[in-house]
Amino acid sequence: MDAYAFFRNEFVPLAEAKVSIVTHALNYGTGVFEGIRGNWNADQQQLYLFRPREHFERLTRSCGVMKMTLPYSPEELCKLTCELVARNGYREDVYVRPLAYKGSEVIGVRLHDLRDDFALFCVPFGAYHEVDKGVRCCTVSWRRVPDLAIPTRCKVTGIYVNSALARTEAHEHDCDEAIMLTVDDMVCEGSGENIFAVIRGELVTPDPSQDILVGITRDSVMRLAREELGLRTVERPIARNELYLADEVFMTGTAAHVTPVLEIDRRPIAGGDVGPITQQLKDLYFDAITGRNPKYAEWCMPVYPAGTPIPAEEREVPVGLRAGDPAS
Ligand code: PMP
Repeated sequence: MDAYAFFRNEFVPLAEAKVSIVTHALNYGTGVFEGIRGNWNADQQQLYLFRPREHFERLTRSCGVMKMTLPYSPEELCKLTCELVARNGYREDVYVRPLAYKGSEVIGVRLHDLRDDFALFCVPFGAYHEVDKGVRCCTVSWRRVPDLAIPTRCKVTGIYVNSALARTEAHEHDCDEAIMLTVDDMVCEGSGENIFAVIRGELVTPDPSQDILVGITRDSVMRLAREELGLRTVERPIARNELYLADEVFMTGTAAHVTPVLEIDRRPIAGGDVGPITQQLKDLYFDAITGRNPKYAEWCMPVYPAGTPIPAEEREVPVGLRAGDPAS
């Protein structure tokens, strides 16, 4: 089955959604994007998009800062996304990538007097990190780009050079993920995740003034901690040393879900194991994102109409009735 994308205002085969090498965004990083997960619930035969509205609101705000106009409202983008995922017929976990970018084919670095384009695609997507086992991290020499250089609250494509440098440095040190510090040497975030520490029974995470991307998973986990575990989150600057001394550390992000951190700079955290609060938050989060907790139903947007029949090719056919079975 051919995958579809939404490209220049229409659904087209993904293989045909192509841009020229002269495209402004490709040359200068002048795009903004989102990552949205669709989480498959096999019991309900349903795929739930996780907080797509909030992602499209963030995309809309990012566009404003980067002087781009989105031709669709967040509601329209939610509908388009459901339609795209349904057209592709995915019945597994997926990752949706909306991308707004300067599509003009022109040389000259700027934001003004350029054409804005929009594309949306989705791919099957399983685990990004070892969510069950946890990850080994190290602080890296690259500092997170400061908000005064590029607006860090916006998911600007060009910022991700910073994340790529950080993640590859971590990889070259045999670690799974990087922890970036700010230019003031305070804890900032991972290459694509926010970071939390559990310190004396409280959650602590860098506040938005610390050049973080203010994550939607971060917000979800803070609410789950408060409402389900009675844990408050203190948002404040964090020194690197506090992470070494923390009872538990974990990362949050659309791709990363809730990922336990087992080790930082070769120092074990939580005895090198998954800590109890991390485990509880991870379980609560997975229940919420797969539509298993009705209290958080507002976070989950179903792609398929309720009661959609399972496609013929996926139905379990009794032995003896399958094509190629010997005739009985
Ligand atoms: N920080 C960065 C740099 C990211 O790329 C992401 C992923 N979007 C996050 C944090 C987490 O944000 P969210 O929970 O909204 O995915």
